[in-house]
Amino acid sequence: MIKYNLTCDCGAAYDSWFYNSFEYDRLKKKKLLTCPECNSTLIKKSIMSPNLPNKANKKIKQDKFEKKLKDQLIQLRNYVEKNCKYVGDKFTQEARSIHYDKKTSKGIYGRATPEQAAELLEEGIEIASIPWINKKPN
Ligand SMILES: [Zn+2]
Repeated sequence: MIKYNLTCDCGAAYDSWFYNSFEYDRLKKKKLLTCPECNSTLIKKSIMSPNLPNKANKKIKQDKFEKKLKDQLIQLRNYVEKNCKYVGDKFTQEARSIHYDKKTSKGIYGRATPEQAAELLEEGIEIASIPWINKKPN
C-alpha cells in the first residue's frame, strides 16, 4: 500500500491509499479520483509517504481519513460492479481467455489468490487488485 497526499485545484488536500503507483494512474485515468470537497477530477498527487504510523496524527483526523477512504472504496466497488462482469473463482481462467482469445469483452472481476495474480501478471495479463469493501453502513 502506498499513501499519496492528493491536492485539488480548489485548494483541498487529503490523503489517499493505493495498492501501488499503477493503481493511482489507473484510477486517475478512469476519473475515479474525485475531490471530496468539490468533486473535481483534477486531483494531483504531491508527496508520497511511506506506510508508517504517524504519531502526530490525531484520532479525529484518523477517523475522518478512514471515512473518506471507505467512501472512495465504496465508489470504486460500485464502479466495478456496474461496469464489469462477476466471474467469481473463474477469474484467472476468464482473464486468460480474454487475453489470449482477444475477446472484446467488458471488464471482469472475481477472486484470485496472490499466486494466481502473480502468474497472470507474469504472462503479461493486465490485472489490478483492489481492496473490496463491505457496503454495510457503520
Ligand atoms: Zn476540489
